[in-house]
Amino acid sequence: MAPGTTVAPADRREELANLFQGWAEPVQNLIKHLNPLETNRLEIGDLDPLDRLVRGRVALLGDAGHATTPTLGQGACQALEDAVILTRYLVTTTISIPDALQRYENARKERTANLVLKARKRTGIIYGKDPAATESWYQQLAQEVPSDVTGAIADIILTGPLG
Ligand SMILES: Cc1cc2nc3c(=O)[nH]c(=O)nc-3n(C[C@H](O)[C@H](O)[C@H](O)COP(=O)(O)OP(=O)(O)OC[C@H]3O[C@@H](n4cnc5c(N)ncnc54)[C@H](O)[C@@H]3O)c2cc1C
Repeated sequence: MAPGTTVAPADRREELANLFQGWAEPVQNLIKHLNPLETNRLEIGDLDPLDRLVRGRVALLGDAGHATTPTLGQGACQALEDAVILTRYLVTTTISIPDALQRYENARKERTANLVLKARKRTGIIYGKDPAATESWYQQLAQEVPSDVTGAIADIILTGPLG
């Protein structure tokens, strides 16, 4: 959709019903049971990786520092990692707060920038920017063995956010 596309809250269920016409019955049931007035409709966007996350005694964490599209499910995870790493440097520094913040930036900038760009690339595939690529992604998804998918999710959970 073009950026800035809006739909009045009362019409949001109908919009979804039109978009998901022909999808499986559980999807139709889910849409039928939505209260359109309580349904958020968000424009998906991200930020280009920033040159810095820190200046002096000021540090950016979470989306403020690296807003990402939700295609890897990593936005909040990265915000939590930021908080853990920042806390670690703040409580252990024997030099200064600006030095601890600089270490935080050194530890976080590249990892979060890479995830933002990876998620952006995936957004192009998932959301039909190139319809043929999206079609092929869905076909590939349909071939996945369900236990491989749940196994991969379990691995992520069991190794923890910093694993
Ligand atoms: C559709 C969708 C699906 C997602 N799925 C996932 C997922 O599966 N996994 C995952 O890890 N992440 C996911 N995310 C991303 C995740 O929601 C964000 O990355 C995360 O909420 C960022 O946390 P934050 O604390 O940095 O920012 P926010 O959660 O945006 O918190 C910022 C807070 O600051 C407040 N605020 C703003 N301005 C001011 C002001 N001037 N004064 C005071 N307060 C202010 C806001 O009201 C808000 O409460 C998803 C996001 C979306 C949109």
